[in-house]
Order: sequence, then C-alpha cells, then structure tokens
Amino acid sequence: MRILRTIAEVREAVREAKAQNSTVGLVPTMGAFHQGHLSLMRRARQETDLVVVSLFVNPTQFAPNEDLSTYPRDEEADARMAEQEGVDILFAPTPAEIYPDGFATNIHVAGLTDVLDGASRGAHHFDGVATVVTKLFNIVRPDVAYFGQKDAQQVLVVRRVVRDLDLDVRIEACPIVREPDGLAMSSRNVYLDADARQQATALNRALDAAQALHDGGERDADSIRSAAQKVLREAGIHPEYLELRDAETLEPVARTTRETLLAVAARVGTARLIDNHVLKASS
Ligand code: AMP
Repeated sequence: MRILRTIAEVREAVREAKAQNSTVGLVPTMGAFHQGHLSLMRRARQETDLVVVSLFVNPTQFAPNEDLSTYPRDEEADARMAEQEGVDILFAPTPAEIYPDGFATNIHVAGLTDVLDGASRGAHHFDGVATVVTKLFNIVRPDVAYFGQKDAQQVLVVRRVVRDLDLDVRIEACPIVREPDGLAMSSRNVYLDADARQQATALNRALDAAQALHDGGERDADSIRSAAQKVLREAGIHPEYLELRDAETLEPVARTTRETLLAVAARVGTARLIDNHVLKASS
C-alpha cells in the first residue's frame, strides 16, 4: 500500500491504473478506522481493481463549536488496517493541499440539507461534505465510491451532487456495521465513558422498538416515533432529532411510505451520535 500526500501523486497513480484498464474504487473517510470503515474497504476490494481510501478530517464540515480539534486521529494504526484490507492507496493530504490559499468555491445542495443533520449541525456541514467529496471525485476519478448507510443523509446528498453535476461515478451505500450490543460503530464512540457507552445502546434499541411496531403492521408515523421516544426517555436520552422521513426525498411523513428513514441524533455523554433504520413497507 502506498501512502500519498499530494493530488499530483494520486492523479499519476490513477492515470497509470486506468491505462491498464483497471477500475478504481474510492472510500472517503476521516480516519480512526473501525469495522464500519473496513467493511467499505472490503467491498471496494471485491469490486474494483485499484482501491483508494482517502483519510482527511475535513475542517469545513465542522462548526466552530464542534470536535475538529479533538477528533480521534491515528494514521499509523489506520495505515496498518487499510493495508490488511488490501487497500492500494491511502490518500492522506494536508488541509493546505485540499484547501490552498484563496479557496473560494462551495457546493450547496438545497432542500435535502435543510433537515435532520443539516438543521441540527447547520448548513455548513453538508456544504463541506458535498464540496470535499466532489473534489475527491475529481482527484481520484473513481468508477465506484463507497459510503456507509450510517450517514444516510450524506448518501442522499452525495447522490444528488452526482446527478446534478453529471459526475461519472457510481455510488454504493453499504449497511451499518454494529457492535455486538447493537451500537452503530463510529469513530466518536471513543468519547464514551463506561456509563455513556451503556446509555448509547438505547439508540439502536429505540430504533428496534419502532421497527418492531412497524413490522407488526403499524403505519402511523407518530405511533412509531413514540415507541422509539419511550426507549430513549427511559434511558435518559433527549434526542436532537428523532424523525420519520421518506427515505429518498427526506419529506416528513404522516404514514410510512415504501421506504421510510427513521433517524436519530443525540448527545450521549460528550459524544454526538447518529443512527438510523430504514423501514420497508414489505417487511
Ligand atoms: P467517517 O470516517 O466517519 O467520515 O466515515 C467514513 C465512511 O464510513 C462514511 O461513508 C460512513 O458512513 C462510513 N461509516 C461510518 N461508520 C459506519 C458504520 N458503523 N457502518 C458502515 N459504514 C460506516
């Protein structure tokens, strides 16, 4: 595995691979790898010839009051894990490489970013995501890019950018990888002390309770939401949001649609955690 720092080096490596008719897979990450990240790398390894993983804690998607300065970073451990997964290139640029002096362009996706994490964290968050992902696509020119369903809204925003800007890349969304007790894996789980770690299990339990009601035939969004809310309340968690929305458009729903996103964000201890389930009408 090669660790590359500059855009020019990545372009050169990709150019050589494409000259051999290799397909290129990209996994964009902010590092502090866990099994969720590794599942994306494995999928890319299976499906594409040249696997590029980007490791960049993107400053523009953090608000000033968020955890940019304390975000977990361990490039050495990350490099070892990526190498074990058969990754070909770890692209770990500096902020100055990605945002040189005078950088002035911003990609804003309207509508989809007004709700859930866009409302909770502010518009800058998905602007930062959309802009850096577009840059990564232009640098790496992947045939396929892999994202986690853990960040369901991010997947929708990226798909929108790809369609709207005619980017020539296929987006694959991969299932949420969980701890044995159901907690969705996240780099931010390291912020949880023992009590908060236990409390955090309520997020997925809440989603499970709502899902069970839905799978039993309930279609009323308020009733389904209440089942989840009850579990959170009993665990002492006050969510930033707990909402059912159409899984494609993110429009609010009064009754569940063909695919309904049930998404939650909550502060648990010092960590801000998110999780979601997609409720399917056929299930
Ligand atoms: P991050 O480093 O947190 O920005 O995540 C990089 C990619 O890994 C994103 O596409 C995330 O959605 C994905 N990811 C993070 N956690 C998980 C998880 N528990 N299961 C599956 N994918 C994940």
